[in-house]
Parts: sequence; structure tokens; C-alpha cells
Amino acid sequence: MITIASLLKSARDELSATQSDTVQLDAELLLCHSLQCERSYLFTWPEKPLDDKSVQAFRELLVRRLNGEPVAHIIGRRDFWDLQLAVNNSTLIPRPDTETLVEEALAFFPKGVDSVLDLGTGTGAIALALASEWPTCHVVGVDSSPAAVALAEQNRRTNRIENVEFIQSCWYESLADDSCFQLIVSNPPYIDESDPHLQQGDVRFEPRSALVAADQGMADLDVIIQQAPDYLKAGGCLMLEHGYQQASDVRKALLARGFGAVGSQNDLAGNERISFGRWS
Ligand code: GLN
Repeated sequence: MITIASLLKSARDELSATQSDTVQLDAELLLCHSLQCERSYLFTWPEKPLDDKSVQAFRELLVRRLNGEPVAHIIGRRDFWDLQLAVNNSTLIPRPDTETLVEEALAFFPKGVDSVLDLGTGTGAIALALASEWPTCHVVGVDSSPAAVALAEQNRRTNRIENVEFIQSCWYESLADDSCFQLIVSNPPYIDESDPHLQQGDVRFEPRSALVAADQGMADLDVIIQQAPDYLKAGGCLMLEHGYQQASDVRKALLARGFGAVGSQNDLAGNERISFGRWS
């Protein structure tokens, strides 16, 4: 007899042979998806016997995972902040590291802001998280990919967030000339194309356009920094996610462009992952 607990254990054993460092979580999320249940159900009913159909449905998902496909793509979903986001292969899969950016923005402006621009919004993760925390703030999220804009808009509707608008734009290009924001945030592409990490794990299934940038990964960060002052209110802030070895280059670029109060913040793994500056 196959039970929830025995199926999870055998899946975990099989997944241990893969690059995944979250085998237990992977197995649980896939089983929840095939049983259409919450994770708490698995812990409440570990001895529950499963019928052949359920076991077969789970096996199909497990085989995809064993072939390297990201769990978020298999189940079409990823939790970010307190939101449930639809995910597909047109954007980056939201990461816990990016929640550090949201936390840092909330800490930088404890009383909130009236306007936010999120450049390269993808699933809409950062824009939607900030809009949900600052309900009176107007948030604009832009992405150059029409598929990403459609996905972000879908996530806005399913999470019932009204104070965000998503626009197709390559960085600032399609914004009105007089657009001005108190906070500009971005998690742009920042990986160098020769980085071996692009050949590993979930990244292999994500769009290159969301990951890779020229000039050792600095090209898009540079464009964003150079033009940000044209779209920032006085006292406004630019806050960027970047690679774990890019903090000092990003701080240098911010200082060279005339930003003040320049600093960085570590991610959960202790790498400098976020840098920011104030425009005054
Ligand atoms: N942090 C992601 C990674 O290293 C990349 C995100 C990005 O390029 N913006 O996998």
C-alpha cells in the first residue's frame, strides 16, 4: 500500500540524485499539486493510502522534476512575499533573495511612498509586494516582454491588488516624459554570459533575456542607474538587485551618477545583493 508518507520518502530518495537542494519541499509541492491539497494536509494524513490514479499523476510530475524542470514551472506557481504568483517560462521565477529588496524598500521608507516604478517586473513580484504593503501608493511595473506584462497583470488580478499598472516598456522608454517616482526598484538581468551557473538548476529553464547582460552583467544596471535621476523625485531612492560580486561596481556607478546615501544590503545567504542610493 502506498501512503502519502511512503510516496514522499521514495520521491525524496529519487530527487537526491538531482541538483535540487530542496528535495523534501519539491516532493511536497508536487504531491500537493497532484492531490490538489494544501501542504498541511500531507502532515495531517501521512498514513493516508493513495489510489493508483493519484500515484500515477504524481509520478508524471516527478519525472519532469527529475529531468530538471523547475517545480514552479511544473505547478505553474510560486509563493513570493504573501502572494501566490502564476509563473511560466516567459519570466524569471521569483526568488527569496528578491524578498530582501522588498524588505529593504519598506525599511528605507518606513512611512511609505506615493509612487514606485519597478523596471523589468517579470511576474510582477516586486511591484505587487510593494503595492500590497503600501495600498495608497501608485505602482507602475514595466517589462519589455508582452508575455511578462500579461502574466504580471494576471497576477495583479488574482491577488486583487488595485494600485498597480503594468506597461510594456524597455526600461524607461515608454514612460511619459513627466513620469516621476519616489522609489525606483529593479531586479534586472545581471549575469555574465560565460557564468557557469547558467548551466545549472532552474536557471536553465528561465529566459536568457531576464538573466544575462553584457559588460560582465553590468550593462542593464548601468542603463538603469544613468537614467534614473530623470524619473526620480527629489529625495527619491533607486534600489537594485545585483550579482553577489557586483555590489562595489554598482555602488561606484551610483556615486559617479551623483547619488547620495549609497549602501548595500546582504541577502539571506550573506552576499551583498541589494544596493541603493538617494537622489537629492
Ligand atoms: N539571482 C538570480 C540568479 O542568480 C538571477 C536574477 C537576475 O539575473 N536578475 O539565479
